[in-house]
Amino acid sequence: MPSVASDFVAPFAGVRQVTGTLPVLVILLRPDSPSDSPYLPPGTPQIQNLTQAQIDALSRDRLRKQIFGPRKSVSTYFNEISYGAFNIEEAMVTPWLVARDDPATAVDESSHAFIHTSDIYKKGAWIIRQVEAMTTFRFSRYDRNNDGRVTEDELGVIWIYPGVYGGIGRETDPALVKVPSLSKGVQLNMLARAGDQSSWALMAHELAHQIFRLGDLYVDKAGYPGVGALSLMCDQGDGTHLDPWGKMKLGWLKPTVINEDGWYALSDVETWPQALILHDPKRGARDYFIVENRWPGQSHEDFLTMRGLAIWRVSERDTSGNWARKTIDLVWAGGPPPSQQLTPGQCPSRDDALFDGDSVATGYAPTPYSSPGRLVWGDGTPSGIAIWHISRASNNARLYVDVPPMQGPSMVGPAVAMTGSTRALDAHEPPYFFQPGRRSDDIVGMGIASDNHVYAWYRDGMVSSGTAADLGRYRAPYPYSIPGGRTPKDILAVDIASDDHVYAWYRDGTVSAGTTRDLGAYRPPASFTLAPGRVALDIVGIGIAQDDRVYAWYRDGMVSSGTSRDLDAYRAVYPFSLPLGRVPDNIIDVGIDTNDRVHSWLKANGTGAPIIVTAYATPGGLAPGKRTTLTIKAADSQGRPLENVAVVVGASAGAFATATRLITGEDGLAEFTWLAPPSVPSSYDGRVLIEIRATRHDLSDGRGLVDVPILSGSP
Ligand SMILES: [Zn+2]
Repeated sequence: MPSVASDFVAPFAGVRQVTGTLPVLVILLRPDSPSDSPYLPPGTPQIQNLTQAQIDALSRDRLRKQIFGPRKSVSTYFNEISYGAFNIEEAMVTPWLVARDDPATAVDESSHAFIHTSDIYKKGAWIIRQVEAMTTFRFSRYDRNNDGRVTEDELGVIWIYPGVYGGIGRETDPALVKVPSLSKGVQLNMLARAGDQSSWALMAHELAHQIFRLGDLYVDKAGYPGVGALSLMCDQGDGTHLDPWGKMKLGWLKPTVINEDGWYALSDVETWPQALILHDPKRGARDYFIVENRWPGQSHEDFLTMRGLAIWRVSERDTSGNWARKTIDLVWAGGPPPSQQLTPGQCPSRDDALFDGDSVATGYAPTPYSSPGRLVWGDGTPSGIAIWHISRASNNARLYVDVPPMQGPSMVGPAVAMTGSTRALDAHEPPYFFQPGRRSDDIVGMGIASDNHVYAWYRDGMVSSGTAADLGRYRAPYPYSIPGGRTPKDILAVDIASDDHVYAWYRDGTVSAGTTRDLGAYRPPASFTLAPGRVALDIVGIGIAQDDRVYAWYRDGMVSSGTSRDLDAYRAVYPFSLPLGRVPDNIIDVGIDTNDRVHSWLKANGTGAPIIVTAYATPGGLAPGKRTTLTIKAADSQGRPLENVAVVVGASAGAFATATRLITGEDGLAEFTWLAPPSVPSSYDGRVLIEIRATRHDLSDGRGLVDVPILSGSP
């Protein structure tokens, strides 16, 4: 059963939907020591003449701006990364509080040592207690559900102390901190903390631990390599976006679960709450990849120089301890960070982590066998998932996703048989066997009889019978006759009805009925009609189902159903799919067996290793006379870009503004400009077919097909 988004957005390790507006309390508290004066940035006017009260006030303003102020602040950042779903507002920024000694205790709470080095858990509870003791702030106001307890889903709390270095979040001891205004007390999963010289991004990171319950994703002692500048939970310094796993679990990003091979588009995740989930239903929903499109643009992460697709590996199997690092991993496009970047506590800065079709190093197709990045599960098992087309980095990227079962590269080159439905022909079967001396090109039609024997008619006037995989298994070739002086090359397709009558369709638009040996024995050729906008030569295969409905597949990727003489009498055209690197024109013929399984046979494109062609047009649909860019990528069966491939294009209408033959560069790309015809074509339902052939002397041909809808009316 295909998986759905709800299988993946379910809470994990306490990380669950967080939306709405959360008040945040900022506690400014310092020791009573001159060395702990709040920080003011260099360039503050007359800094040496300021009184302590003026310094405190300037510092408080600065920190308030950093957290609640205009962009870039913690507040504008949370708004952006949540697509507006989560916001913070100021509950209070306390004045700078100066710690006071409690004479009832043995320690001096006002000392530098107490504030900076004493028991971090006990101190956290003490700091929360100081708020009601030293200010007018009352926690009770934030007890939204009136249970006598304030928790982090009601109030965020961050303590800021004078200090250069980062921050830290820790539980408090006791966990429930008694305060006068509440019957029970304040119970945060942790108190967020940061030095007053920390960036807003670090404060956002600390609050993310507290409010979102997210875990750290930087390098640790156990050898976790971090996720680089692609998640706030690794890079705390600059304000990079959160990883898509966090955004999804928090209920902000709405993933698309991929259950079918094909082309998908991804807009930049900085602006649009989009990502793709790739998984193997056989393995369940705990292992998956999330693919997002990073395009920093004018977002908070505008400092990033990386662009392209980020692929994240997720394994939701262990919620204990250091669960985040056990769960979330980056598939580094350019290879893992070098050892000198793997210092525990640091976030590696390697900046070729994204897949970019425009780059030789990171433009390869990630598959279970690619290198350096590969799509294997956490335990090293090949995932059966590939992304066969990685587009040039863009705010709207295109990718071709292959989910299990993975299409072997072997599907592209040799002649293969396939089993599927009328809509999806692409379940892979092994290559099939011919009689000695025959090749896939020699076959003019194939059909399946009521005993499920497969008949193949050949160009030389012979017919054999066997199985889908072994065409000559039952009966060696014997001669057949064709009515009315037609020759085998006039045959478009053949199939066999439930009464074992053999129907043959011809290029001149006629159909006959007969036997395997005499194609016209029962009925001489009579004309047939096909789906509008198509001619007889557009037919690539015809099959007859158990109920004697006749299905016709066309060169433009569509299929219709009807009778032998009216091919769309029952159902107008609908699309069908083929494996990557295959085009409808590769179909020799289609046969439908007694279980209504659809068998199709594809001819070989040559004998050497194949060129895999992927192609798309941007924009994909356009008004008459407009221009579109056709991007074509030639790759080997491992998805590596191939250079020096000659790519030839031809369109069923319109004109190319570039040459129709281009040679791929080292990125495997060739880019054509094509002008739509001046009006909507009457053929192919108003679409224009652009057919692609890619050749290189040492490889077998690659084929591709793109259809571009021409849109009528105003754009
Ligand atoms: Zn942290």
